[in-house]
Amino acid sequence: MRGTYAVPYASRGSVFGADEVQALTRLVESDDALSMGSWREQFEERFREHIGTRHALTVTSGTVALELAIHLLDLAPGDEVIVTPQTFQATVQPLLSYQATVRFCDVDPESLNMDPVALKSLITDRTRAILLVHYGGWPAEMDEILTLARERGIFVVEDCAHALGASYDGRRPGSLGDIGTFSFHASKNITTLGEGGMLTFDRDDWAERIDRLRSNEVDGVFVSAPELPMESPKLLPWMKYSATVYQEACLGVRRSGTNATLSEAACSVGLVQLERLEALVARRRAIAARLDEVIDRHPGARVGRPRAGLVHAHHLYTFFAGGPADVREALVRGLDERGVEVQLRYFPLHLLPEWRDRGHGLGECPVAERLWFNEHVNLPCSPGLSDAQVERMVEALDEALGSAYAGAGAGVPA
Ligand SMILES: *Cc1c(COP(=O)(O)O)cnc(C)c1O
Repeated sequence: MRGTYAVPYASRGSVFGADEVQALTRLVESDDALSMGSWREQFEERFREHIGTRHALTVTSGTVALELAIHLLDLAPGDEVIVTPQTFQATVQPLLSYQATVRFCDVDPESLNMDPVALKSLITDRTRAILLVHYGGWPAEMDEILTLARERGIFVVEDCAHALGASYDGRRPGSLGDIGTFSFHASKNITTLGEGGMLTFDRDDWAERIDRLRSNEVDGVFVSAPELPMESPKLLPWMKYSATVYQEACLGVRRSGTNATLSEAACSVGLVQLERLEALVARRRAIAARLDEVIDRHPGARVGRPRAGLVHAHHLYTFFAGGPADVREALVRGLDERGVEVQLRYFPLHLLPEWRDRGHGLGECPVAERLWFNEHVNLPCSPGLSDAQVERMVEALDEALGSAYAGAGAGVPA
């Protein structure tokens, strides 16, 4: 069916124009480096300013950003990490490579973000980190979460893949916890030509570690070579002789590096896209507002609204079809028949086979499970939709909600 919908879910989360084309033409026609050059520097500098952190480091995807962020936590066997189940699997997948214990924390039924009350009950002496997402672009309740974390020295990693353009009481997601990770995949609020990612944080030592890792160097314990006696047994001979290239000695390797360099072409386009972020998010917000009006006309359905002080980036448009269990099925079928492509994001992660193999299962996060299996619906919300497509979706939603509730005999729930 893909490609045949009048209102497709999202082929692209962003819109490209003459400025992006010009950036690429300028790069290709110049003698500028195509890798590790000035466009990366400029993109990272603008991103740091936008988010409000000391460091912003590009990598090749949001998935790689998360892998490297989790590496920085130096997890030891027996450490516990609390994660949200209501996110894309890339948020928690890197944890499968560690002998850490993962605890899935249930979500708030309005925002689908990690519920601070549930979180508190999962914290133990062994909790080392909290890994959360700002679901759909709605900022998580960071003050409550950070208060719990700071009291106990627990790291907080924010997966901001949806949250570029959002704000939390005047500050940007990605600057609130210890580490922020971003994705510039084709579907996200801005894109660096289809794939890309970023890490944000304040710590200088982490910036050095990430810079080595993404450039195929090892992450280790380095000391300045000239400080070591040349006959030190720990100093590898080749380092001694190539000291002009490698000015440091490595006393212990934490992990080997990889090539996660984001290309200059991607960074030059990212710089332009970042300039357009406000306009792109404003378009998402306008589409969401039209859909909210329809949901409000149907008492069985509900849509959450962020409290004052939070700005929603509307990467996803999510609402809930409450009432009898068959309403959601009828509604989704009704939308599909009317040419609106519906997707359900995301299947609760603790129920995926890789986590069930580790002892997780049904009943662990009742709110996330109940909503996903019975009520949760996502609608197209990307800024590339035309006004005509938005109006068509509004009409289809109104009709499909009307007939789904009438057909189920649900009436108006108390
Ligand atoms: C898209 C996404 C990622 C992964 O980003 P990629 O750039 O596609 O690797 C991680 N977390 C969330 C919540 C996402 O939506």
